[in-house]
Amino acid sequence: MMSRVDVILSGLNAAQADAVQYLDGPLLVLAGAGTGKTRVITSRMAEMVRRGTSPERILSVTFTNKAAKEMRERAVALMGRSKSKPLVSTFHAYCVRVLREEIERLGYPKTFAIYDRGDQETAARAALREVRLTDKAMKPADLLSRISRWKMNGVSPDEATENTEDDLDLLSAIAYRRYQGILKTSGGVDFDDLLLLTVRLMETDPEVRARQQTRFDFVQIDEYQDTNGVQFRLVQSLVEHHQQLCVVGDDDQSIYGWRGAEVTHILNFGRHFPSAKVIRLEDNYRCKIDILDLANELVRHNRDRHPKKLRAGRSGSADVKFLEFDDETEEARQLAFELDYLINQTGVPPSDIAVLFRTNEQPRVIESEFRRKRLPYLLLGGQSFFDRKEIRDLLGYLRVVINPQDRQALARIINTPARGIGRTTVEKVVDAAVKTKVDFWSAAEQLAVQGVLGPKPINAIRGLRSLVKKYRDRFQAQPARLHDAMSELIDEIEYRAEIERLYSEPTQQLGRAAALDQLLETMREYAAAAKRPSLGGFLEETSLDGRDFATEEKSGRDANSIRLMTLHSAKGLEFPRVYLVGMEEGLLPHRRSLDIGGAAIEEERRLAYVGITRAMNSLTLSRALARRKWGKLRPTIPSRFLAEMRSELAIEGNPDAGAKELAS
Ligand code: ATP
Ligand code: MG
Repeated sequence: MMSRVDVILSGLNAAQADAVQYLDGPLLVLAGAGTGKTRVITSRMAEMVRRGTSPERILSVTFTNKAAKEMRERAVALMGRSKSKPLVSTFHAYCVRVLREEIERLGYPKTFAIYDRGDQETAARAALREVRLTDKAMKPADLLSRISRWKMNGVSPDEATENTEDDLDLLSAIAYRRYQGILKTSGGVDFDDLLLLTVRLMETDPEVRARQQTRFDFVQIDEYQDTNGVQFRLVQSLVEHHQQLCVVGDDDQSIYGWRGAEVTHILNFGRHFPSAKVIRLEDNYRCKIDILDLANELVRHNRDRHPKKLRAGRSGSADVKFLEFDDETEEARQLAFELDYLINQTGVPPSDIAVLFRTNEQPRVIESEFRRKRLPYLLLGGQSFFDRKEIRDLLGYLRVVINPQDRQALARIINTPARGIGRTTVEKVVDAAVKTKVDFWSAAEQLAVQGVLGPKPINAIRGLRSLVKKYRDRFQAQPARLHDAMSELIDEIEYRAEIERLYSEPTQQLGRAAALDQLLETMREYAAAAKRPSLGGFLEETSLDGRDFATEEKSGRDANSIRLMTLHSAKGLEFPRVYLVGMEEGLLPHRRSLDIGGAAIEEERRLAYVGITRAMNSLTLSRALARRKWGKLRPTIPSRFLAEMRSELAIEGNPDAGAKELAS
């Protein structure tokens, strides 16, 4: 029988084994794509446990929920029998854990809501109104991106106000303060707050700091090249005493510069942790050599990089294709045609296939072609299921059930479906609530007494209030059957009738109704899987999923589907077959980067590099000769990355195949 250490080290190369066995302080594994960095992190967890650390004292941070799940499962398999599991989580999910325990110290309720994009926009609009910035001067989306930038750099509203260059800067800094105020009074946090508030607690509250610092004996971070300033501070503070930190990453795959990530964190690791050991891995075990050659050839064009060796660990030639089509519909048709053939004629499992694209607009036409062919697919990281109107409405109800003071959610549902409470009524009540510092419901009662609210609206508000109370009890009574209570709630508010009212087309109605069923199914699956299911727990999971970079597969059918995803959300994953579509100037590299140039183009090149290095055996790069924009077909320019990779390559293509098939 193999000893446990042999099991853990078996199949690792010498450098990987070194990294797995080095548990003596800060460690950096800096290596190219597919060299087994993530595998090192996973194996280290097993090695730590083998040497006596208990699993729950290990924290490993990855980029997506999906990656976390896979890593946890693999580590547990390597560990053999053990009572507990290591904590493998995204930065955001870890912060939610901390905040659920500690956020009251910052004056937020324990049941805080995590705002989605729609909630954020409502709050931003209100904040802009308060500082009297018109929509022309600044849109809510602009304010939100400014706020997000501040938050990712750990800049507070006060600090933002101090460092302004012009009036617009100053006004947006003040709006930032108002925005925070609005969130706080309704007990909400946005996605960036999760990190920021956790760091604030760690840095300013010695008790919290002590609790978190003594919680883990080891901390590991995957994809370290994409940590932003706030995440970096969080990590530093977590390992301050024991310095048991392992980070792995690849500077060639840093793709979140536009969101404040700084590749300097990985490049300066030795400066931040002077006793750090550095291990480099040079064998790529993922991509066949032709694919790896392309990737290396491409990324070589970046000037701002640290050259590194990357050898192909897998021999045998790969299937690499470059294709071009008349337009994006043709590109999608041909893709659907080929995948249909592969799946249904040659038995390729759909989950072996990934279709990658740069922007969120691209998958729409691909989706419709896939539907037409009845190909099973899963769209990850695009417009999430949880961003759909009907889902957000219903989650809004749940949020009010959990926290009746959640003003954002309340504003969303108060007149959806219509119950005769107009917008001005809501504004009046909210104003009164803010002025007299009472909650929404009491403010409404006061206004009714003063005769400001007539009998109809106040009765409607009371009706909603008792509905909320009723379901609060209902959900608490049978937490294992959340979906039943939800189903009743949907009936009671007549939401299905609302769908019929809102959408006249039968197909639309069906789609929306299907989304409701999917929500019920999601709740059922959650309740079945959770150790101690609760409505709050469910909301926590969904609000994270909805904003995460890739959602988890929910069911067996999903697990066997083609993956459609953005290049950003493909990071860290691998697939036997990869299709990278839309290889055009303006898409990849992205339009925005063309205006900025230099470093922005280099980031786009890294993004293409990430895409290509996801492929194990087969890679197809395609582009459309013309693409529709605002209804007009416009000619495109091939992506400069194509020529950089292989200038001599003849462009092939067979647009007829898809068209013929469609006609038949
Ligand atoms: P990325 O930079 O894309 O995140 P990575 O460096 O994290 O890649 P992994 O995902 O850990 O790489 O590994 C890539 C693939 O190579 C996986 O399928 C992994 O199981 C395999 N692999 C890693 N090390 C070895 C090895 N020593 N022998 C064989 N296969 C390996
Ligand atoms: Mg990895």
